[in-house]
Amino acid sequence: MPLRDVEGQYSALEGLKRALSHHRLHHAYLFAGPHGVGKALAGFGLAQALLCDGPRADGDGCGACKGCTRVAERQHPDLHVLERLERADGKGLEAQIKIDQVRQLQKALAYKSFEGGRRVVVIEEAEAMNPSTANALLKTLEEPGEETFFVLISHAAHRLLPTIISRCQRVRFSPLPREFVAEKLAALGELAPAQAELLAGLAEGSIGKGLALAESGLLADRVALIEAADDPDGLQRIGALSELADKLGRDKGELPLFFLLLRTWYRDLMLVQAGLPDDRLVHHDLAARARARAVQIPFDALDHRLKLLASTERDILQGNANPRLFLERLFVHLVDDARAGRAGRAA
Ligand SMILES: [Zn+2]
Repeated sequence: MPLRDVEGQYSALEGLKRALSHHRLHHAYLFAGPHGVGKALAGFGLAQALLCDGPRADGDGCGACKGCTRVAERQHPDLHVLERLERADGKGLEAQIKIDQVRQLQKALAYKSFEGGRRVVVIEEAEAMNPSTANALLKTLEEPGEETFFVLISHAAHRLLPTIISRCQRVRFSPLPREFVAEKLAALGELAPAQAELLAGLAEGSIGKGLALAESGLLADRVALIEAADDPDGLQRIGALSELADKLGRDKGELPLFFLLLRTWYRDLMLVQAGLPDDRLVHHDLAARARARAVQIPFDALDHRLKLLASTERDILQGNANPRLFLERLFVHLVDDARAGRAGRAA
């Protein structure tokens, strides 16, 4: 889609559109911001603008010509996309962008462009380049050749090498407003308004995440999961939690959603403690439970839980930890924490 159709990122894209219309584009951009807020849409929108057969007066792509269509299909010969490849065993994607992919790109860029004009390189999940791959790219980024433009896309720009970052113009994408996400999810996912609103709250400003949530089975277990993981009599449930750890440990795809559910739940309790109205809660259908729990768990303990969740999630998702072991440890902490909280109040 052309840049003008990328919604909800007005301030991020304003400068870019101005540069485009004044023919003052930087040769390398870093589109940074959370998952699913339009970074890739904008990246390919910019590629369309650059490879369009008859761009509009403001420099944006027409969206309909052969050039634009081939960019949208990722089939344009002067569009080079670097992304994590499918694993040979068919089990998802490689963890990293390979150095060979960068070398192939460099070979392709050494030749003249096919259409005799511009070339665009889009690198998705640029943080998936390890230091040696990034270093290999660096030279091309420094001397890209005439009419060659780079768009690096990243939801974790802090993991990029400083030398890469310093060669790019950064465009900051923000989480999208909750109402906007709800509206889009209702339309895209054909969802009832109440469900779209719940998903929008959970999606933390990301349409992509909202859609993934809508498709995941985990949402059906939302209430049960929250009740299990945040049970004042958690000790009785430790068997159930161990089972849950086992299940989540096997199916790593659901882990980010699991952490998201607990994170938003504890944040809701903080919002209740801060005196915010129920309709500001993500899980506002569970407002009564949230109000009851918010008086039982002190703010410091909630803060501690959120930190514990974050560190456990990071350790597991970075592959440094055995998921099952770490989840069990997390649950034991949560339960101990709940007992300590009660003992503290009893004393
Ligand atoms: Zn066009």
